Amino acid sequence: MSEEFDVVVVGAGPAGENVAARVARGGLSVAVVEEGLAGGECSYWACIPSKALLRPVELTAEVGRVPGLTAGPVDTAAVLARRDELVAHLDDTGQVKWIEDLPARFVRGRGRLRGSGLVEVTAPGGAVLPLRARHAVVLATGSRPVIPPVPGLAEAAPWTSREATEARAVPGRLAVLGGGVVGCEMAQALHGLGAGETTLLVRGASPLGRMEPFAGELVAASLAAGGVTVRTGARVTRVERSAPGGAVTVHLAEGRPVEADELLVATGRRAATADLGLDTVGLSGTGPLEVDDGMRVLGAGGGRLYAVGDVNGRNLLTHMGKYQARVCGDVIVARARGGRDDLPAMRAAADGYGAPQVVFTDPQACAVGRTEEAARAAGFEVRAVEYDLGAVAGASLLAEGYRGRAKFVVDERRRVLLGATFVGQGVAELLHAATVAVTAEVTLERLWHAVPSFPTVGEVWLRLLEEYGL
Ligand SMILES: Cc1cc2nc3c(=O)[nH]c(=O)nc-3n(C[C@H](O)[C@H](O)[C@H](O)COP(=O)(O)OP(=O)(O)OC[C@H]3O[C@@H](n4cnc5c(N)ncnc54)[C@H](O)[C@@H]3O)c2cc1C
Repeated sequence: MSEEFDVVVVGAGPAGENVAARVARGGLSVAVVEEGLAGGECSYWACIPSKALLRPVELTAEVGRVPGLTAGPVDTAAVLARRDELVAHLDDTGQVKWIEDLPARFVRGRGRLRGSGLVEVTAPGGAVLPLRARHAVVLATGSRPVIPPVPGLAEAAPWTSREATEARAVPGRLAVLGGGVVGCEMAQALHGLGAGETTLLVRGASPLGRMEPFAGELVAASLAAGGVTVRTGARVTRVERSAPGGAVTVHLAEGRPVEADELLVATGRRAATADLGLDTVGLSGTGPLEVDDGMRVLGAGGGRLYAVGDVNGRNLLTHMGKYQARVCGDVIVARARGGRDDLPAMRAAADGYGAPQVVFTDPQACAVGRTEEAARAAGFEVRAVEYDLGAVAGASLLAEGYRGRAKFVVDERRRVLLGATFVGQGVAELLHAATVAVTAEVTLERLWHAVPSFPTVGEVWLRLLEEYGL
């Protein structure tokens, strides 16, 4: 016998949980299916533990930049213990209760589609429970790390972000493959917590290749100054591990091989679409699920299938998955009630032009909207201005020898911001103002009247507008 709900959500990460909350708020009944832990990757193996590991390392560096203060050595065991607290010791009782209180029915097991509006759940013990959805099935199954097809790499049993964030001990020698956000953050965190010999292997000319070039350059310089070896233009040809638990050697096309106790692979993620029964709704392929701005999966038979979060590949970020979830939930409620489903708040348009992202390294690197290169490629008439953050009074008070940079990308025709990037200590909190300016398309003339307080790092807003010519 199947159980019937208005909505069935598969995956209880941040995206799935938020769809459930939104449709429950709209008065619909909802079941949430989760094969692992309610809370998803973000709560246990991604955002939360990685930031718990980074914060003490950042704070130590901050203290060292104010004369008169001395940072003591980091107590790694205490940091790992706090990380364990913050991930609730991998116990999801609290999150399951949160879901049940929505109210929603929480079902532990693996969900698979069996045609339009039908999800079959295989419980851990093997029992199968069919769930029927009257209005919508939402896939929120997230993503999985990619292990590139390098000879010997998979056999060397490398760490992924999971093993790195849940580490019980820090390896003495660590090699990190991949100069994206996860590679930079984890290289810095684990180096600061005791991985004395850390090597970051970056394929391009600098890390963080999706941001403005100065972001990767400043983060690489800081990593190097802190003792991390950054090797750019690194192409891995072969990997070998001497014995299970033994040393791992990473061979490169150029230069000497890197030997380490652990190798962390951080080369990207793939949408978790395998074995989801997509063929039963007429979908083929293994890539991210393509959705419209209301989160409905394109090409799915029956028109009742939605996808939010990492699985749709739009923006692999918790806050963007939650944004999509709010949109998706409202669209489902509106359609279920026969109301309007095309209001502006029911379109995840900011996915395309206003997604903010923070890299929690020291210095922090954060950006919203388009880079200069992306804006030009999109055909905008662009002018970009940059400013040395170290020259802002508030920055010099924050830290001795503050190093940082900021950039505005301006649409010359409308005189609005298309993008903004800040790199420096404590800049993450500057980002939301930029997100508001980009998404609300505030003109530079209006921004001129948004006066930043003295002496804050935020005065860089004024300096950038002056650079522009206001
Ligand atoms: C190391 C690291 C650090 C990160 N830091 C940040 C950060 O600071 N800020 C930020 O915004 N983003 C960060 N991210 C990205 C963020 O973790 C993801 O964008 C976010 O977790 C995606 O949420 P989601 O709900 O789409 O998927 P997930 O969090 O992956 O959740 C998906 C859930 O679906 C379940 N599931 C999958 N298939 C099935 C199935 N068939 N049946 C039942 N259940 C299923 C899974 O078990 C999982 O619990 C980080 C990522 C990594 C790897």
